This record gives sequence, C-alpha cells and structure tokens, in this order.
Amino acid sequence: MDLSNYIRTINDFPKPGIVFKDITPLLNSPEATSACLEQLLELLGDRKIDKVVGIESRGFFFATLLAHKLQAGFIPIRKPGKLPHKIIRRSYALEYGDDHIEMHEDAIEKGDLILLHDDVLATGGTAKAACELIEHLGGVIVQCNFLMELEFLNGRDKIAGYDVQSVLKF
Ligand code: 5GP
Repeated sequence: MDLSNYIRTINDFPKPGIVFKDITPLLNSPEATSACLEQLLELLGDRKIDKVVGIESRGFFFATLLAHKLQAGFIPIRKPGKLPHKIIRRSYALEYGDDHIEMHEDAIEKGDLILLHDDVLATGGTAKAACELIEHLGGVIVQCNFLMELEFLNGRDKIAGYDVQSVLKF
C-alpha cells in the first residue's frame, strides 16, 4: 500500500506560502492506519521501549497506538498551560519568535527507554526541544520516528546523533 496516497497537500495553510501535509485521510482509513502502524513498528525493530512520547497534537494519534502495541507507557508533550501537574518546559525557535513545549516532570524515570514520535519532521525544532526534555529527566532516546519527513527542511540535522526514521519522505 502506498501511504503517500493518503496524505493530502494543502497550499497556503495555516499561512500563505506554507504547503501543509494533511494526515486526516490516512487516519480516516483503518487499512492505511494499520499499514502505517506496522511500518513504524518495523522501523523500530525488536528494541525494548518503556515509554512512547508523543508531541501535541497530531503526534498523539500514532504515539498512543505505538505505546499500546509495544505495551509501553504513553507520555504527552504539550503546548504551554495544558498539563495539570508540575512541568518542565523548553523553548524552541519558530520562523518568527519562539514557542514552548511542556512535559510532566515525573513522567520519566531515569534510564527509561524512550521512543519519541510525531507526525511530521519539518525544521526539527520541536523534536530537538522534545529530546532535551526527555534527556533532562534521564530518559534514554532509542529512536525518533515520524510519519513523514519534509527533507528539504533538513530537520534531521537538528537531531543528528539519534536514530531518526520516517515512513514517508517528501
Ligand atoms: P518543526 O518543529 O520540525 O519545524 O515542525 C514540526 C511540528 O510542526 C510537528 O509537531 C508537526 O505536527 C507540525 N508540522 C509542521 N509542518 C507540518 C505539515 O506540513 N503537516 C503537518 N501535519 N504538521 C506539520
């Protein structure tokens, strides 16, 4: 199954000049969702994972499916002000200005084996900040995986040194 057929390209969303990859057609197909999940699991292989960390919000879909399949815990990384308990936060640069992501400070135990997942690797700023949060709490990042990678933005350069995998490349 060619999963790229389930990704819709939307021009000028959310702002003029941005070419947005929309994953909702993939999520709307149980066959494509199953095939995508299997491919993500194949990319990981048989390595042990204690916790899957998913990035708000589109990273949550497959991160929870992966956590369930791997019988691992699921940890959300969220935008500021969403998590109710004590948090740690990291800022990362956007095209104009910066933004923050947060994680519960008790979500990871030192030495936990972590799979980081998000839907899209674009410039890599979000994933890099997520890796910093995970390692600050003592997590060991086994792999960073993505549904797709926008190769022309060179996001993997920002998280060089980790095992970075994606199902689709554009
Ligand atoms: P980065 O920090 O790598 O530049 O951006 C990655 C984040 O922005 C991810 O959390 C991802 O959900 C979102 N993102 C950036 N571009 C796209 C896109 O074209 N499609 C989707 N679905 N998400 C995107």
